[in-house]
Amino acid sequence: MISVEEALDKVLSYVYMLEVEEKPILDCLGQVLDEDIYSPLSVPPLDNSAMDGYAVKADDAAGASAFSPVTLDVIGEVKAGTVTRQEVTTHTAIRIMTGAPLPNGADSVVQFEHTDEEQRGQRPPRQIGILQAVTKGQNVRRAGEDIARGDLVLTKGTVLRPAEIGVLASLGQGSVNVIRRPVVAILATGDELVQLGQPLPEGKIYNSNSYSTAALVLRYGGIPRVLGIATDSAADIEDKIRQALSSDMLLTSGGVSMGDYDFVKEVLAEQGEVSFWTVRMKPGKPLAFGNIKGIPHLGLPGNPVSVMITFELFARPAILKMMGKKNLSKPVVEATLEGRVKNTDGRRIFARAAVRRDGERYLARITGPQGSGILTSMSQANGLVIVPEDSEGAKDGDTVKVLMLNWSEE
Ligand code: AMP
Ligand code: MG
Repeated sequence: MISVEEALDKVLSYVYMLEVEEKPILDCLGQVLDEDIYSPLSVPPLDNSAMDGYAVKADDAAGASAFSPVTLDVIGEVKAGTVTRQEVTTHTAIRIMTGAPLPNGADSVVQFEHTDEEQRGQRPPRQIGILQAVTKGQNVRRAGEDIARGDLVLTKGTVLRPAEIGVLASLGQGSVNVIRRPVVAILATGDELVQLGQPLPEGKIYNSNSYSTAALVLRYGGIPRVLGIATDSAADIEDKIRQALSSDMLLTSGGVSMGDYDFVKEVLAEQGEVSFWTVRMKPGKPLAFGNIKGIPHLGLPGNPVSVMITFELFARPAILKMMGKKNLSKPVVEATLEGRVKNTDGRRIFARAAVRRDGERYLARITGPQGSGILTSMSQANGLVIVPEDSEGAKDGDTVKVLMLNWSEE
């Protein structure tokens, strides 16, 4: 048996960062930028108002208060999206809306609430009373205060999240170069499997693995290509695998244990190169890895929970590496265990747990029966309690490490 780390090293040493593609920014969420982005403009492009109010010279409003307002002549109005040619001269003001460029001559903006505008009928009024002094620059956003023209705004290697996509849009950049998403072919194997939408004959089960793995592929940024179900025959598996040859990775589920009809490893051995492992972990001991005509192939176990956990541990980092990401691991937190986990055969145990915050600490409650066919316990969990291979287990109240699958605590 090999360790989880050895298995992961072998998988990662076989996959590489994919090529670059140029795409519209909205299609790039979660992808890695492959260029440095310099700004062709200043954001904001001009000094502008942060408030609805009156653009003034701060010196004119010096000493203004509700008891002794300063009255200024209103010479015009400017709204967002337009530039005024009028200039604020001594003892004048221009009515201004949020985002509108500051008129020449003005150095600050007095917000409506600090004027007597409400008492005046006309809009804009002919004169305005200023009820509070301002300092130079008050309520003014400076040109380039967010981004100056020529600034290096985003560097090569940045993962594009919603904020970065917004920043790109603010520069007017509609498309960028990113590392492309891997296409991941998914094949379920087993004579017992029935496709969704079909009636369920006695002795059969619905194919759930293809859906959970396709959802995981999507979640981590890949493009799933679901190939359907292969029966437990080498010929059918070979036939279906042929459709995976234009993908970047193949995931199969089932057919890698010691049963009479576990043909996946046989086909792998014939068609490509295979390392068949038993990994010192639970669930998910049987795992095949190799390549079929150069395409990396992870043969995941069949059990619905094992398939998801081995995906998280081995397929996810491989997908992220192909996408050019550097951080391949999920967060691990320390938590106080509620429940117990026994370790009887020296494997690393990943026990499904619901983690929640309790003041300064986290509590990790084991989500009931841990059979590797009990998929609902995966649904109740947001993390996996890790029990090391050299320990006999963990009991109620012990501090344990938890690999967080879903960081949110809902
Ligand atoms: P195997 O490794 O092929 O012996 O499969 C182990 C267990 O996982 C068996 O109980 C299978 O019925 C179940 N299983 C295998 N593939 C799937 C699948 N695609 N969807 C749901 N259960 C599956
Ligand atoms: Mg099977």
